[in-house]
Amino acid sequence: MSKIIVLMGAPGAGKGTQARLLQERKGIPQISTGDIFREMKNSDTPLAREVQKIMADGRLVPDDLTFKIVKERTGREDCKGSYILDGYPRTEVQAQQLEELASEQGKEIEAFLIDVDREVLEKRMTGRRTCAVCGEIFNLYFKPPVKCERPECDLEKNLIHRADDNEESVRQRLITYEEKTKPLIDYYERKGKLRRIDGNRDPEAIYADLEKLIDAV
Ligand code: AMP
Repeated sequence: MSKIIVLMGAPGAGKGTQARLLQERKGIPQISTGDIFREMKNSDTPLAREVQKIMADGRLVPDDLTFKIVKERTGREDCKGSYILDGYPRTEVQAQQLEELASEQGKEIEAFLIDVDREVLEKRMTGRRTCAVCGEIFNLYFKPPVKCERPECDLEKNLIHRADDNEESVRQRLITYEEKTKPLIDYYERKGKLRRIDGNRDPEAIYADLEKLIDAV
């Protein structure tokens, strides 16, 4: 049966990095709700402005709107088989909505938690920089943005510091995570659907464990 691979973990845990590696190396499409919302900033509609404000404050976009977006995106051709969700679900309501979607789509949900200590998380977020051209993720402390694989990237011109990676937003995002998203760890554990990975290591070590666990389900 096809799987919905849910990558869980606090903001800064490295879900995006791992989702990108899985997509590149195993060809499983990754859907990141955060990326979809960030792309909305290019459209100047009242909805896009509201979403930007919510993100900058470190709050969550309403469940029903988020679900609509996930349903539409995962209904496309590339998600006919297994796919990865990065940053979804983030509330108990979203987890329920995802159960319904999974049964409609005839897929099974498997959750993987990337577990990272608090001090590491803060550095990962405030130090994070992303290449605007290819999306590669760097970190000022752990992986300085020196150069991308592709010559057209030119990091001097195209390096993004996410608007919500400043100290105040980071603090609020961690609070939102503790209150709203952490309870989902128990939710998936009770269902016997949660696997844990030590995320306090370099991305390749985390990836090796994650890939093994995914191959085993
Ligand atoms: P991320 O890139 O996953 O850290 O997401 C960045 C921001 O997008 C979050 O802080 C939220 O404001 C919003 N967002 C992303 N995913 C969700 C979700 N599943 N539910 C609600 N808001 C979300």
